[in-house]
Amino acid sequence: MISPEFPNPLFTKLLVANRGEIALRVIRACRELGIASVAVYSDADATAPHVRAADEAINIGPAPAAQSYLLGERILDAARRTGAQAIHPGYGFLSEREWFARAVRDAGFVWVGPPAEAIAALGSKTAARTLVVAAGVPVVPGTTPALQDAAEALAVALQFGFPVLLKAAAGGGGKGMRVVHAADELAGALASAQREARNAFGDDAVYVEKYIDGPRHVEIQVLGDMHGTMLHLGERECSVQRRHQKMIEEAPSVAVSPELRARMGATAVAAARAAGYVNAGTCEFLLDQDGNYYFLEMNTRIQVEHPVTELVTGIDLVQWQIRIAAGEALPFAQESIVPRGWAIECRITSEDFQNGFLPSTGRVSYMKIPSGPGVRWDGGIEIGSDVGLFYDPMLAKLIVHAATRDAAIARMHRALLELEIEGVETSREFHLRMMEDVEFRRGDITIQWLEAKLPELSAVMPPEHDVRTAVIAAALMAERDRNAVRPAAPATNATAANAAWQRAARLEGLRSS
Ligand code: ADP
Repeated sequence: MISPEFPNPLFTKLLVANRGEIALRVIRACRELGIASVAVYSDADATAPHVRAADEAINIGPAPAAQSYLLGERILDAARRTGAQAIHPGYGFLSEREWFARAVRDAGFVWVGPPAEAIAALGSKTAARTLVVAAGVPVVPGTTPALQDAAEALAVALQFGFPVLLKAAAGGGGKGMRVVHAADELAGALASAQREARNAFGDDAVYVEKYIDGPRHVEIQVLGDMHGTMLHLGERECSVQRRHQKMIEEAPSVAVSPELRARMGATAVAAARAAGYVNAGTCEFLLDQDGNYYFLEMNTRIQVEHPVTELVTGIDLVQWQIRIAAGEALPFAQESIVPRGWAIECRITSEDFQNGFLPSTGRVSYMKIPSGPGVRWDGGIEIGSDVGLFYDPMLAKLIVHAATRDAAIARMHRALLELEIEGVETSREFHLRMMEDVEFRRGDITIQWLEAKLPELSAVMPPEHDVRTAVIAAALMAERDRNAVRPAAPATNATAANAAWQRAARLEGLRSS
């Protein structure tokens, strides 16, 4: 169906170079715009939801990403074979590889993303720092060239004062980062950061930043077209992190006033302009307790947490990525973009909260997706999906929107209670406890808060919703075992008991949670 909104696109068929929930997200945007979609998939994903959702699908190799989703030439081949004229990379995989953006363009396809030159300019943390400093953007105090050796690291650390943070120039996903509290830890930390960076990125350049105490992670979404318009869509607060990885995101942030939003927004726009940026991007900042903010890096792709911005601004970021790539001009005025209400996202991962977030694998044997007012589910799994270790553990994103932050938390709690996934352990219980946590509810969070809170969070008795279900579970399981309906699952902890109860409840024709 041709969309009246998007009647004359430059392209009519788009290939999605990704998998999981983000591939589905892009396919949905294509369908709404009246563009045909092509999925690519590895052997492990032959029956994955994104493969069936697309209009066509092409196998690009074996399960390991290095033999499929990371092979640019295979993806270009798939585009040629299917007659796709544009390529959307999603996030992760090839999305921030300058060479791939260039190869797509050189092969005559439209790249749904920023120009390869902008990816290159922002790809290295040190190069990005140099670039944005020249545009007047505040960065975390630190060095810009890579460190030569531990002696130089020590001189810099003494200048800023401990603690300092060693960071890989090519870094991403928290890899190659080390907090150093004292001089005698420096040499060892530098060697291990360099080793980790070399293994992860093939580049061992490491530099030093001052370690900011108790900041928030606040990032600004930008959107720029090819006609010189660059807008910001306000902030996302992503301070709930474990091992430098985001777990919960929200928009707006309790720490950002309209005045600060305007200033940070203008800074993000300046950074994006300095890099010759076009399309959707994100400037990440640390916001300290005195309201000072420092540029961390710019992510040159759509982010996992983009839905919270979509819900509070009403702007479909993925559709606009595609429309911008097709040459459309942004029709919004900066003044018209004001956050409405509050949105929260929880990353539902295949990590077992009760076991120190141990990765869990298995086949999804049952699933109930939350719904009702203000609830959005961006998922990549369904009943029968195999969750393995080949790819990212994020199974889905549960996102809610409500009038206020308190109402959004209550809505997320309700939605999490509705969520059921069996066959694989997930982070659901973690998120439930977060929504029940007094400090989280006050918005009293920094990037260091969760790590300090986790021991307490996992040690406490299961909350009320589990105590109740665990008791019923025991009774129902005993009953079920007597009837030998199905082999009994061992109830080793509250979550297992809860899952067992939910299975049992269905067998009994009851409804759970
Ligand atoms: P990556 O690209 O590996 O994700 P970032 O530079 O984005 O690395 O940093 C990841 C996270 O590490 C940030 O969200 C923040 O929580 C923390 N962090 C980064 N720089 C600093 C700093 N100078 N002081 C304190 N925390 C920091």
